[in-house]
Amino acid sequence: MSYLAPAGTPIPLALFGTALLQGLREPDVADRLASTLARHSGHSRSWLISTGRAAMVVALEAMREVVQDPRRTEVIVPGYTCYSVPASVLRAGLKPRLCDIDPRTLSLNLDRLRQFDFSRVLAIVTANLYGVPNALAEIEAIARNAGVLMLDDAAQALGAQYAGRPAGGFGDIGLYSFDKGKNITSMDGGALVTSHPALADAIDRRHRSLAPTPASKSGITVIKLLAYSLLLQPRLYGIVRRAPFLGLGKTVYEDSYPLLQYHRVLAGFAGQLYARLPEFTATRRNNANALALALRSIRGIDQVELLDSSVPGFTRLPVLVADQSLRAKLIDALDHAGVGATTSYPKALSDVPELAAHLQAEDLAIPGARQVADRIVTLPVHPYCPPDYALRVARTLESAFAGSAGTHNNTRSVLS
Ligand SMILES: *Cc1c(COP(=O)(O)O)cnc(C)c1O
Repeated sequence: MSYLAPAGTPIPLALFGTALLQGLREPDVADRLASTLARHSGHSRSWLISTGRAAMVVALEAMREVVQDPRRTEVIVPGYTCYSVPASVLRAGLKPRLCDIDPRTLSLNLDRLRQFDFSRVLAIVTANLYGVPNALAEIEAIARNAGVLMLDDAAQALGAQYAGRPAGGFGDIGLYSFDKGKNITSMDGGALVTSHPALADAIDRRHRSLAPTPASKSGITVIKLLAYSLLLQPRLYGIVRRAPFLGLGKTVYEDSYPLLQYHRVLAGFAGQLYARLPEFTATRRNNANALALALRSIRGIDQVELLDSSVPGFTRLPVLVADQSLRAKLIDALDHAGVGATTSYPKALSDVPELAAHLQAEDLAIPGARQVADRIVTLPVHPYCPPDYALRVARTLESAFAGSAGTHNNTRSVLS
């Protein structure tokens, strides 16, 4: 049966030829991509790195070097975000501090943020999950007032804006990712942007000392990209998604990834897909808007509120439902209808076992983040969603709410 993957970027086969030729023949393809991302963010400099999490380690190490204050070892991260974020903080030899989030907007809880004792804080990290911008201008102001740095993590928000400025362009350093479920993908990849001269020097020095990604590894990545582009198609995804070797949909805590330069062959792909970002963003936004409208009449689904002056660049549409058992029932009904709805990150960072030893007691009180972890459902909005997708999802959810989720005979495929 056809099945919609939770998230993804279609890569037309024709793009493979162009991207590969560029990557192999044009020595400046990576530099051009870096300039494009700097321009996108409004910053003056940019560097490409093997992954977003590796880029975050480089950014935090550069911050540590520039601030030159050995007491500043804490990095404030949102209590609900990608597990790679606290893993990178630890990899950089720093200590993650958790700030609660507002479950209505998924943004850092600004009241809580202002109450932090900033005396040992190096930086504040944002999240912008699912392409929904955080209160970036407010967080930037709080960081400035507190005299700490800000890392705008736009791994999922390339193409989103807040107050007329691009996500990833706030604070001192911005971060983008080209991993699989992001706004565009080259399978692996990350980027940093900054305009801060001293930070730029520190990043530049680190970047130059990174080993290159071996060509053989990039060759395998290109083959994986080809498989990805085929398997994302709903007909094939329906067949392969249960294959255990793909490890799809698992969130694991991982902290042993390599720090390497990004390979220029992958830059060909990211560059070609960046050129189509406006089109992807518009399609995803239309799908998200149609879903939001269709789900509005369903009692029991709370939509995440968009902050005033934010323009999302959705990778998925996040909504909240009453509790974990209802959520399991709804996801099951959507699964039977061929829709890859997910629970996103399974836990608030306060409850991730690998982090327990590194957190302090006061950081465990993050009820907003825990509520989101228990209640969130993300829905696909990628370009493979069919024309009447929103109405069909709404119908599937309505009948699941009505209690018919146990018998799947009456759940029709969203795609048939
Ligand atoms: C994906 C992601 C990262 C890490 O990016 P990778 O390229 O996967 O290493 C960091 N922060 C957030 C919010 C992410 O979603």
